Amino acid sequence: MIDSYDDSSRAHILTLTLDDLTTILSDMGQKPFRAKQVAQWVYEHGAVSFEDMTNLSKALRESLATRFEIYRSRIIHRTASNDGTVKLLLEWPDGATSECVMIPTDRQTTGCISSQVGCPVGCRFCASGLDGLQRNLTAGEIVEQALRVRAEAVGRLTNIVFMGLGEPLANYGTVMQSVRMINASWGMGIGARKITISTVGLPRQIRKLADEGLQLNLALSLHAPTDDLRRELIPWADRISIDELAKACRYYFDRTGREITLEYTLLHATNDLPQHARELAHFVKRLRCNVNLLRYNPVESLPYRRPTSEAAHAFQQALRKYGVNSHIRKSRGLDIEAACGQLRYTEMKRGVDHDRSLPVRTVEVKVPRSC
Ligand code: SF4
Repeated sequence: MIDSYDDSSRAHILTLTLDDLTTILSDMGQKPFRAKQVAQWVYEHGAVSFEDMTNLSKALRESLATRFEIYRSRIIHRTASNDGTVKLLLEWPDGATSECVMIPTDRQTTGCISSQVGCPVGCRFCASGLDGLQRNLTAGEIVEQALRVRAEAVGRLTNIVFMGLGEPLANYGTVMQSVRMINASWGMGIGARKITISTVGLPRQIRKLADEGLQLNLALSLHAPTDDLRRELIPWADRISIDELAKACRYYFDRTGREITLEYTLLHATNDLPQHARELAHFVKRLRCNVNLLRYNPVESLPYRRPTSEAAHAFQQALRKYGVNSHIRKSRGLDIEAACGQLRYTEMKRGVDHDRSLPVRTVEVKVPRSC
């Protein structure tokens, strides 16, 4: 494994577009096609060092290695589930940590990546938000996670979902920069329709995303069918009504033609009762959307419980009674703490962060004014 962890004096090559690379290499007296060769090594062949780039001269490889690093993170924890899911905990040069997961299924392999270190939203049932936001990840760090999970895949990595730590639309510009690199033919070459942005729901940013001219999937983490219950579970819902969300999602569909995916985490005796199914059906009928039901992955120290499989099916039946079809998403990697933020949280509790020489700063963030 490459470990350039302690040297951040060099620029992170994964933050650069092909145009940036072309300009830099031309300033170094190189022909434009050299930039394509470097990108090909990084994104197509998964090169971990400039040494690997054998069609570049030795002098150029050495020169690149003094200016850039390819991978900045150190894998401090790797766990593989019986179901093939692999979860990585990465540590960045400042001591911050983030998670990414490779999830294989019969037909596709999905990489789940983080957009922030910690999460500013602080959903009551989620490990990611327990310690608030430490910082945003950079575009290069986001892309690096995608490359890390791709390296874990047995076959091709087909999908990317922004469902790890953080609220992607609260790190909007950077996330879009990374999406373009993941999507680019010179980059990871993953189609926009195979990339999903999951959000707790920031209406203005959803509209902005709709206007990007990309065919991205949008997943709305609703988790509660009424404003009152949503505000209990999701602090940011305090200033964002379900009605505003429905309108923003409708706009997204009208602009992109892409159906929204509604994510609803079932919490035992909290949001999985018959009246919740009725209220959820009412919301769903306002949109063109697919509904995914997820049985909660319990987090130690949080009071929420995972509903039984029977309870989840009863909820699904109740939705069907109101004319709404849904899928119960299979839980993956339950044996490896694959719930969002759980591995990182467990490691933090074990004192991983406290042993680092650089202190980890926690930032208090309010709901962005723009949402
Ligand atoms: Fe943040 Fe998502 Fe966790 Fe909520 S569920 S705290 S938005 S990572």
